[in-house]
Amino acid sequence: MGMSEFLAAKYAALTPYTPGEQPKGQRLVKLNTNELPYPPPPAVQTAAANAAAGFNLYSDPTCAPAVQALAAQYKVAPQQVFCGNGSDEILALCFAAFCQNGAAFADVTYGFYPVWASLFGVDAILVPLRDDFTLHPDDYAGLGRTIFIANPNAPTGIALPRQGIRQMLLQNPNSLVVVDEAYVDFGAESAVPLVEEHKNLLVVGTFSKSRAMAGARFGYTIANPALIEDLNLLKFSFNPYNVNSATLAAAAAALQNQSYFNDCRDKIIITRQRTLQTLQAMGFSVTQSLANFVFASHKTLPAQALYAALRQKGVLVRWWGLPRIQNHLRISIGTNEQMDELFAALEEILRQPHSPAN
Ligand SMILES: *Cc1c(COP(=O)(O)O)cnc(C)c1O
Repeated sequence: MGMSEFLAAKYAALTPYTPGEQPKGQRLVKLNTNELPYPPPPAVQTAAANAAAGFNLYSDPTCAPAVQALAAQYKVAPQQVFCGNGSDEILALCFAAFCQNGAAFADVTYGFYPVWASLFGVDAILVPLRDDFTLHPDDYAGLGRTIFIANPNAPTGIALPRQGIRQMLLQNPNSLVVVDEAYVDFGAESAVPLVEEHKNLLVVGTFSKSRAMAGARFGYTIANPALIEDLNLLKFSFNPYNVNSATLAAAAAALQNQSYFNDCRDKIIITRQRTLQTLQAMGFSVTQSLANFVFASHKTLPAQALYAALRQKGVLVRWWGLPRIQNHLRISIGTNEQMDELFAALEEILRQPHSPAN
């Protein structure tokens, strides 16, 4: 990437986040970025389309329609809710606002955390997951830093029960704990019920995964009102109209369509179970994922070669050449038909084990 002489020197060493590939035009089975394979419900599409008629006006800077709907959904006060242009925006604001004493997060987790730490000059330490990729609250006790936890974790899919989050909150009463629940709807326990009694908890959610709205860019956070005020201080000092009006209308409509949401979630959970069993039968070991993806490692074929061979057969999954996970693939849960295409491709590849990249 070229750099101009105008770029502030402090950004010269920034390594940006690498989003998963969004292929154009090719017919690929896209299992690489954890989107839902289903479209949002018709009412969401209608709400967004209707909102476009009002594009001459600025969107509501308080995000009221979505805040009200979220407060009702999660049984909290509107003062405990904040909306963002994707949860990425909210997480970035958290790094900017709340990390004066540094941050701590797992060595294997969402790849954006170290990028934001670097962007905002936050000193970050990596807390290693255990050998089986589980996260133990004790490993975070007394660090005196803001803690970021993706729960379920990415890319492992492993979830910490609510009791584990409670333990972290109690062991670190003077540190903020940010729980990133991007995947919580696929079967894990949310920490939202802990917000009422813990002032050091901030729960971040997104409509990108379980609500089938990745392209709308909508995230939210639930926390005590003082933390929400802090986030608003930063937002109104930077980008007051951070969520556009079509997305605000779509988000409110999505929360009215609970049965569609439940159906999608149930389908993903059933397909995830089938995927786990099928991969295990093919010689993969897989983590106990509670997310809409699985994290798999094959007993003989290296993940990088598998990734390349799958790509050649038109199946896109995610592989990172990173320490500890270079022999794992993250595979999003698609429709049953998409997973059948994955299984067929894997069977072909595994039949010729000496030349996996053919
Ligand atoms: C996808 C993802 C996000 C970002 O979601 P957006 O709301 O689309 O910005 C945040 N955290 C984790 C762990 C994710 O996987």
